[in-house]
Amino acid sequence: MEIACLDLEGVLVPEIWIEFAERTGIEELRATTRDVSDYDVLMKQRLALLAQHGFKISDIHSVIRELKPLPGAVEFVDWLRERYQVVILSDTFYEFSSPLMAQLGWPTLLCHRLEVDAEGAVIDYHLRQENPKGSAVQALQGLHYRVIAAGDSYNDIAMLQEADAGILFHAPEHVTAEFPEFPSVQTYEALQAEFTQASDFLRL
Ligand SMILES: [Mg+2]
Repeated sequence: MEIACLDLEGVLVPEIWIEFAERTGIEELRATTRDVSDYDVLMKQRLALLAQHGFKISDIHSVIRELKPLPGAVEFVDWLRERYQVVILSDTFYEFSSPLMAQLGWPTLLCHRLEVDAEGAVIDYHLRQENPKGSAVQALQGLHYRVIAAGDSYNDIAMLQEADAGILFHAPEHVTAEFPEFPSVQTYEALQAEFTQASDFLRL
């Protein structure tokens, strides 16, 4: 049996924090792990900015609800789900991603949680576990699934390395150059071909 594991942001949907920063005009929210290497520092900074600008979870949802999956993403997920069990492994938060997941038809999503108080303010965040993507792949393999995974950036590398086959999709050139062991493609059509190539079943 095979499972397809996909990253979410950059693979199926836009980068949520960057889109949120653009739509709200809060420039500091554009910061990513490339600007602030400590994820905890980065998240605390983001939560402080949300509080400072008075954004409640409902405001965040109404901004994110305007976002659309990347062109072709819905059709790609449909294609994949006809052939594999599909699990999205993401470093996003359920509370952030739900408007986009609804548009993708609610595939299984393993990610993190935000803590929201009674007034709807986002007060903290909770990572599901250490090395969340790599650990999820190991766990699925423990259930005797063969895993084919695709992602676009550094936070996907552990997932691609643990997987039986890893594919870079929409990856920037420096990531592709640093990890030449993974095939790298830029279109959903090419990604479908990579999945078919990597599959024990679909090639037959
Ligand atoms: Mg990504």
